[in-house]
Amino acid sequence: MTRRTAMAAGLAGAAGAWVAGGCGGADGRDGTDGAGPIRSDAGRGLRAVVIGAGAFGGWTALHLLRHGADVTLVDAWGPGNSRASSGGDTRVIRATYGSFRIYSEMVIRALELWKAHEKATGERLFFPTGALWMSSGGPGQYMTDAAPVLESLGIAFTELTGGQMARRFPQISPEGITHALYEEGAGYLLARRGCQNVWRTFLGEGGATRLAEAAAGEIAGGRMRDLPLADGSRLEADVYVFAGGPWLSQLFPGFDPPLVTPTRQEILYFGAPGGRSDLTDAELPVWVEDGDALFYGIPGSEFRGFKVADDSRGAPFDPTRGERIASAEGIRRGREYMEHRFPAMRGAPLLEARVCQYEQSQDGHLIVDTHPEAANAWIVGGGSGHGYKLGPALGEMLAVQILGEREKEPFFRLTRFA
Ligand SMILES: Cc1cc2nc3c(=O)[nH]c(=O)nc-3n(C[C@H](O)[C@H](O)[C@H](O)COP(=O)(O)OP(=O)(O)OC[C@H]3O[C@@H](n4cnc5c(N)ncnc54)[C@H](O)[C@@H]3O)c2cc1C
Repeated sequence: MTRRTAMAAGLAGAAGAWVAGGCGGADGRDGTDGAGPIRSDAGRGLRAVVIGAGAFGGWTALHLLRHGADVTLVDAWGPGNSRASSGGDTRVIRATYGSFRIYSEMVIRALELWKAHEKATGERLFFPTGALWMSSGGPGQYMTDAAPVLESLGIAFTELTGGQMARRFPQISPEGITHALYEEGAGYLLARRGCQNVWRTFLGEGGATRLAEAAAGEIAGGRMRDLPLADGSRLEADVYVFAGGPWLSQLFPGFDPPLVTPTRQEILYFGAPGGRSDLTDAELPVWVEDGDALFYGIPGSEFRGFKVADDSRGAPFDPTRGERIASAEGIRRGREYMEHRFPAMRGAPLLEARVCQYEQSQDGHLIVDTHPEAANAWIVGGGSGHGYKLGPALGEMLAVQILGEREKEPFFRLTRFA
């Protein structure tokens, strides 16, 4: 994969057309502003089991439930657990996606749903800091590609030179920055809290949950029969949705290329000097720099510190047994980058570090399809470092696909790997 592809599918990771195309067959909405979740009884009588309560499984289970299905959500370690890809403090939400209009549209819909969900549950999950994309050492093709997409979708953004950027954000050194793009409505989401909130909401609306480790069931006659659980019991349903994140390739080892490859990623939290609101989300947006490497950060991060991360794909990682200790080299690289771009952070101590994993698909794009041998077993994942934000829109899309109200999205199908 080239760095450009990795980035496109990578980090920082969009719905007029999306909503119209995606949900036209479903019934009315319950939001007062027309942006809320869709509810219908199209799923009445359908029994569904969703495996995985991360961003993808949790939202899919909730949307299926809201269409009247009888849904059980199963997770081995719980929603937003420390091993899960959705288990971090914060995740970026931005519609800037290079030329990938499909994601920009999904982000628009996802943001509507995140906001409606906040309103309905009374818990703040979205922080609108804006997102600043900086390009160094190149023409900033990703931004150049994104600009017409954002414009055509009516998403507010400003393009800046390095000098203009420095005047607007004096806490950032403009050295080497050739071009910047500031997306005003972007920001960050509280990730593991979001998963837990969705799990609670799902339970509150009548869904069933199980803390249990599942395996893929036997397939016969083009269908998956049931779902074996590690405690020896089985769950039987009409439809199974496997949203196992980085574990997807363990659930279904037979795919070539593998469904996903978990890659080791380090997240660093440095301590800013006291009282510097310009180094918090009060004044600093979510930022991304596309240069020799791709670094990004989220100020705020629940007061855990000044978050810095390198988006380069790390070594393959075992999400179950892997030890999560940051490397000296990763800390050195993160510090060196931070001190160069944010001079006020020179000498800042490392407060915390986390090791997480991307669930990288072969091309960095999502996988949303049925198993080639079982029409009732859906596989969803491949967020590849950019999936969290999409959760509500993805779950909405998948629920109506499962109910037969929408065709599968070709861009996300497994057949592209054939
Ligand atoms: C460091 C890092 C930074 C990221 N930054 C961003 C960002 O800024 N913006 C963004 O949008 N995205 C970002 N992402 C990507 C995003 O977090 C993921 O794509 C997304 O969270 C994946 O969600 P998921 O539901 O597919 O997987 P997970 O969140 O991993 O959920 C899978 C769930 O399945 C459960 N499970 C697995 N196997 C079984 C089994 N056999 N039985 C029962 N349960 C099982 C697990 O316990 C887990 O809870 C980032 C990811 C990482 C790691």
